[in-house]
Amino acid sequence: MDVLIAGAGHGGLAAGAILAEAGHSVTVLEEKQRDALGHDWEDRFTFSVLCDALGIAERDLPADVRRVRGDCTFVSPDQKTHVDVHFPKGAEQKVMWRQPLMRMLLDRAAACGVRFAFGTRVEKPLVRNGRVTGLCTDAGALSADLVIDAAGVFSPVRMNLPPECGVEKSPKRGELFYAYRAYFDRIENVPVPDIPFEVYLRHAGEAGLSWFCTNPDTVDVLIGRVDPLTKEQVEAHLQSFRASHPWMGDQIVHGGQYGFIPVRRPLTRMVADGYAAVGDSAFMTTPMNGMGIDLSLRAGRLLAETVLAHPACTAADLWHYNRDFHRMYGGDTAKNEGLKNALLTMPEADVNFLFSNRVIESADLAGAGQNMNLPALLGKLVRGMRKPPAFGSVLRGLLRGGRTQTLYKKAPEDFSPDAVGRWSRKINE
Ligand SMILES: Cc1cc2nc3c(=O)[nH]c(=O)nc-3n(C[C@H](O)[C@H](O)[C@H](O)COP(=O)(O)OP(=O)(O)OC[C@H]3O[C@@H](n4cnc5c(N)ncnc54)[C@H](O)[C@@H]3O)c2cc1C
Repeated sequence: MDVLIAGAGHGGLAAGAILAEAGHSVTVLEEKQRDALGHDWEDRFTFSVLCDALGIAERDLPADVRRVRGDCTFVSPDQKTHVDVHFPKGAEQKVMWRQPLMRMLLDRAAACGVRFAFGTRVEKPLVRNGRVTGLCTDAGALSADLVIDAAGVFSPVRMNLPPECGVEKSPKRGELFYAYRAYFDRIENVPVPDIPFEVYLRHAGEAGLSWFCTNPDTVDVLIGRVDPLTKEQVEAHLQSFRASHPWMGDQIVHGGQYGFIPVRRPLTRMVADGYAAVGDSAFMTTPMNGMGIDLSLRAGRLLAETVLAHPACTAADLWHYNRDFHRMYGGDTAKNEGLKNALLTMPEADVNFLFSNRVIESADLAGAGQNMNLPALLGKLVRGMRKPPAFGSVLRGLLRGGRTQTLYKKAPEDFSPDAVGRWSRKINE
């Protein structure tokens, strides 16, 4: 079988390695050059998931590209309340630099037999009689039995599929974070807080969040917003962080780049005849924290296993991947979109109330909203009912999240465009 992978996204590389190892012809078309792949910053993800994709043990990961990040504190919009999260030993957040992570995935894929066309821009899918039959690129048209779309949030493949494929094209406002991230030098001999990682919700009155992480030799700043960021806005936030954190220098040591993070439920339908989306192109991130690497790698494996079992790659064949992803991961990750939306859209004073009255607590934030289930919430009822509208917004967000989770897990067993369309509309409504 000929497989084309649009973009060297994480899930595409993971799937490609398995398919090439099984003897299929796999080519990745990537617009950047190999050395330019991966952001110049560290990411948090589950190392065992990466090791599974690489076929190695965790102890074999290079030690100099990873570390433990330390405890975290969430800061209310008025900055009066801090909710501290202390990670027990062995459960700390682990981070790794993105560029070596990408190199490991690329090396693994190449060793399994995947071919790469770097510097090749994918423009749109080739479609014949409703089936995706290849890709149009700036180097010409290429045909394939299967196109794996790993080209990220703004994938030109997904966005140019014909409407009959039933795949949602673009994220809406509030479903994407526009992010800026940079590491600055650290000024010596200035006292720093005990908790290194500070996360500011609705920072500076804007819809989104920022973080400030004090590392041994740098400070790591992220500014993430629902609306596009201007350079002036970023500069103003950096100045304000410098004023409140006098150990932050003005030299950029790493990063200094902009990116996009999907913060919504995954695509309901992510397959068509000859086509499957994986990773950010299918919005596979956890909405509360924007983590997407784990889900992309897991989805890549699931997709490859589905293709090996159902090599005709019709929508009905690939539906096994789509359905199983939602049952195993998609529903759980979609669950916390409701809480994220509630926290982003309710009046700022209400978010302050939820923090200062301990309606939102450490366990809720440590689990990115996953721990905040109804029984846990009932315990907060007495405190929350001092301000019913604020509590009501959170409750509605959680209930919506819970309903969405249930619907995702009840994805139709077998593929039919009508049944999948009805199910998909129900979720999106
Ligand atoms: C600031 C920031 C911080 C983040 N922090 C974390 C974190 O800590 N942990 C975590 O798990 N996730 C994090 N993420 C999210 C994470 O980056 C993604 O979820 C993850 O990379 C999965 O995306 P992907 O591999 O599917 O797509 P991408 O990483 O976007 O890769 C897509 C690839 O396709 C290529 N491409 C795009 N268009 C074309 C085209 N037309 N032709 C050819 N090639 C193309 C791109 O060059 C790129 O190589 C963060 C994201 C940002 C922006």
